[in-house]
Amino acid sequence: MAKEQLEKIPEIDLILGINEKNDIVKHLANKEKEKKNMLAQKETMVEVSDVLHQTEFLDFGKVTYTEKTRAVVKVQDGCNQFCSYCIIPYARGRIRSRRPESVIKEITAISQKGIKEVVLTGIHLASYGKDFEKNDALIDLLEKIEKVEGIQRIRLGSLEPTLISEEFVGRLSKLSKICDHFHLSLQSGCDETLKRMNRKYTIEVFERGVELLRSAFPNVNLTTDIIVGFPGETKEEFDKTYDFLKKIQFYKMHIFKYSPRKGTVASKMENQIDGNVKEQRSRLLIDLSAKNEEAYHRKYLGRQVEVLWEEKNHGLMTGHTKNYMKIQKKKEETNGKTNTMEIVTIQNMDEMMNS
Ligand code: SF4
Repeated sequence: MAKEQLEKIPEIDLILGINEKNDIVKHLANKEKEKKNMLAQKETMVEVSDVLHQTEFLDFGKVTYTEKTRAVVKVQDGCNQFCSYCIIPYARGRIRSRRPESVIKEITAISQKGIKEVVLTGIHLASYGKDFEKNDALIDLLEKIEKVEGIQRIRLGSLEPTLISEEFVGRLSKLSKICDHFHLSLQSGCDETLKRMNRKYTIEVFERGVELLRSAFPNVNLTTDIIVGFPGETKEEFDKTYDFLKKIQFYKMHIFKYSPRKGTVASKMENQIDGNVKEQRSRLLIDLSAKNEEAYHRKYLGRQVEVLWEEKNHGLMTGHTKNYMKIQKKKEETNGKTNTMEIVTIQNMDEMMNS
């Protein structure tokens, strides 16, 4: 995408691809030298290595983004799914997974810093290990992380309906540290739209995955992403999505109005949807999401939950439950210590924050 902008932004001297980020200093130094040699001649230099041919996960060593209580560990890069609206497979290349030994080494180091929660992320986490030709690599990895001392919570960035088999959920539910919050990207609740999106599941498969997770994790919190106004989305198709979402009752839905990405199949599709229609559909789903969230919170009134306190601010403690509800309480009603776990009782709706 940056390369595409080159002609529009003449000030650009140097473009680096994602794989060069470790060598920024070297590239800048080379560029500086080259500029001096070229004297007045201005020429743009492009050094984007072809990410589409990258087959190894680039282990950048210390790329771990930590908060005080939580560390985000990237274990996978790239995507082979080619959803028709998405540029990522072209921009980030094929799937590459980080070796389990390297992940465990980093998570062990994280736990030694006193951090209790790790979040595993990737561009398409469900593809983790497919490049090792192992279908159960993700669950194998999770079982290994479960054994790392000091880590008390393992959170998954996102899951894919096609990954959620009986066997997967059976093994997942045996892990005491796994957080019962799963983000399942649905995108549409209508099979016809899903097909045009080139998503690889039907709503029946999706619903089966939801049932499996709900029966294995009684307090499970499910969130999702939805695109409204995808090319050709008729009123009937949108209504199917709305009805399906009403049935599933996600805790939270992230609603995106479709916008074309240059170079994708969907950007060239006929029947692009009018902006006002997208806006209207988006509003309807945002309202539904807010209602679901409130209903979910209401069920927790008077219940006990375990919170990992993350922040102390203006006399309030805030943190998350294992199933990713954001809780705030008056400091004097808690132990007052961040990076500790505490069981508290939810007294009123304001203690459960909208995330
Ligand atoms: S939307 Fe997700 S799964 Fe689909 S191509 Fe993009 S990154 Fe891959």
